[in-house]
Amino acid sequence: MSTDATPGRAHGFATRAIHAGQPHDPITGAVVTPISLATTFAQPEVGELMGGFEYGRTGNPTRVAYEACLASLEGGTDAVAFASGLSAEDALLRLVAPGSRIVLGDDAYGGTYRLISAVHAVEGRDHLAFDLTDPGKLEANWPDDATMVWLETPTNPLLTCLDITAIAEVAHAHGAILVVDNTFATPALQRPLEHGADVVVHSATKYLGGHSDVVGGIVATSDEELAQRLRYLQNAVGAVPSPFDCYLVLRGLKTLDVRMERHSANAAVIAEALQAHPQVERVRYPGLESHPTHRVAARQMSGFGGMVSFECRGGEAAALEVVSHTELFTLAESLGAVESLIEHPGRMTHASAAGSPLEVPASLVRCSVGIEDAADLVADLTAALDRLP
Ligand code: PLP
Repeated sequence: MSTDATPGRAHGFATRAIHAGQPHDPITGAVVTPISLATTFAQPEVGELMGGFEYGRTGNPTRVAYEACLASLEGGTDAVAFASGLSAEDALLRLVAPGSRIVLGDDAYGGTYRLISAVHAVEGRDHLAFDLTDPGKLEANWPDDATMVWLETPTNPLLTCLDITAIAEVAHAHGAILVVDNTFATPALQRPLEHGADVVVHSATKYLGGHSDVVGGIVATSDEELAQRLRYLQNAVGAVPSPFDCYLVLRGLKTLDVRMERHSANAAVIAEALQAHPQVERVRYPGLESHPTHRVAARQMSGFGGMVSFECRGGEAAALEVVSHTELFTLAESLGAVESLIEHPGRMTHASAAGSPLEVPASLVRCSVGIEDAADLVADLTAALDRLP
């Protein structure tokens, strides 16, 4: 089943976030896309479908609306939704033929690394963890068996920004496709397909949903063949989101634009405050001019996002102390929601990368800056840092 992702393409981002794929209900006029729970759909004749729907795993009206909206926001022609970010990633990785290699940026979500290095490796897909900050190095060291390059930008948790256009050129010159995990930036701030990426993947659990109440994943592309293969896997493997989950992400998308603006504004204030604190060794925020890949970020992003990481002068002990003593910043995994979260990547989200090329510094703290009042958030973090000896 294809989704019509194009209506309203002439409109701006915030307009499409609210309307794309979401016509008013033709019978009731309801302005909100209904949560369509039916698992099966009546057929007037064998094989004849009334509204294009046959069976709930294969297609669902709420899911179609959500997919059409996200495809429009990413500037793609199609989007395919999954039950989690990792199940979306799993479908993408199945596109790599066994015996071929995935080049993975050497800073990425620990669960992505686990999926590639422990699950897909067993099925014969090799990987190479590679520093992608210099695309020329990738060109010079291109592994002949690579058919997919996979990157996050900004990366999780070091917030390095990678040049999508330059890396896409290298990948394409070797006949490989480029996958960009756009979870941290979201299409409100960065649209990788416009920069040459072939596929965008999201953990919709984060900013797209935006309220820490839904787990989901989604892939967007303008490549018809890739879309068809992903659509096939969505149905054949069956890791689909529930209609209620689709509704929640669709609802989240409506406010994505304003949320990302506020997340970015708050994060900028916090990054500056952290930089001035004597207990902080180094702040990693793409919006800071001191950030090593600030220029790449400024070129391909329209805002710098809500994630801020920093290293503590007192090492791991200090980092653990800080994350345990904030009040507004909740110590928890995940990110991208209205409330602020704080965590220790080495012991939490990235524990599965310990001992690998993706291991993160022990002194690192990662903050997902919410949309509370910036002054309250600064005071909270400062109080936790001030406690350190
Ligand atoms: N990609 C990134 C950048 C993530 O941070 C995460 C989860 O934290 C995922 C993918 C996986 O998504 P999910 O937890 O929805 O399966």
